[in-house]
Amino acid sequence: MKVLTTLAELRAFRRQAGDDSVGFVPTMGALHEGHASLIRRARLENRVVIVSIYVNPTQFNSAEDLAKYPRPLQADLEAAREAGADAVWTPEYTELYPDGYRYRVSESEVAKILEGEFRPGHFDGMLSVVLKLLNGARPTRAYFGEKDWQQLALVRGMVEALLVPVEIVPVPTLREADGLAMSSRNVRLSPEERRIAPLLHQVLNQVDDPDQATRILSEKGFRVEYVREWDGRRLAAAWLGNVRLIDNVEI
Ligand code: AMP
Repeated sequence: MKVLTTLAELRAFRRQAGDDSVGFVPTMGALHEGHASLIRRARLENRVVIVSIYVNPTQFNSAEDLAKYPRPLQADLEAAREAGADAVWTPEYTELYPDGYRYRVSESEVAKILEGEFRPGHFDGMLSVVLKLLNGARPTRAYFGEKDWQQLALVRGMVEALLVPVEIVPVPTLREADGLAMSSRNVRLSPEERRIAPLLHQVLNQVDDPDQATRILSEKGFRVEYVREWDGRRLAAAWLGNVRLIDNVEI
């Protein structure tokens, strides 16, 4: 497996890979089985698989969250290799943002609701970096998790709106045995918070309406930001201590 840092290295690898069957999995690292399921899926469907690892500063709302984001690079490279990656691209800020983020992708409706309401600017940062990563890797197919439902919808919309020549492939949410959606932030939960965390998924699945879910989760110790129904899903964001969890289920 190749480790590519510079754009020049990526482009050299990309030239050799051809244009017909390149799968791409963009991540922020701290890889877990959820990420591995995306990489394995890409491995099944493509001749060449590229994974990117980049903790994108422009999509974070707090300096603390960005600083605390886990970055276990050696373990990530091993996990990517095991799941079937041919190359891992670990770009640097200066090459991804030569303009210092003067240019950005902004969506004016979906990006303003749900996550966008509580994380202003988050989706501009996400869409901007995804477009840069797609333009760098030039994949045939790019894989995104359904765990981040609104992100997936926005990426699909961007690709259609901006005529980006890539197929976006959604991948179902991978969960722990108790139902908690796998997430890089789960390692920051205390043992007590980790015990409560699976209730988020259980309650979303079991209640009749969002208000009831908010009530029950608040009683159990979550600080709920929203539980809402949109796009055929029931979506939620809630804090346990200083960890923000999101999840969504089919209605
Ligand atoms: P992240 O590193 O959190 O930016 O996630 C990278 C990609 O992995 C995104 O497309 C996520 O939706 C996806 N992903 C994260 N967690 C999971 C999970 N538990 N199951 C499936 N996909 C996931």
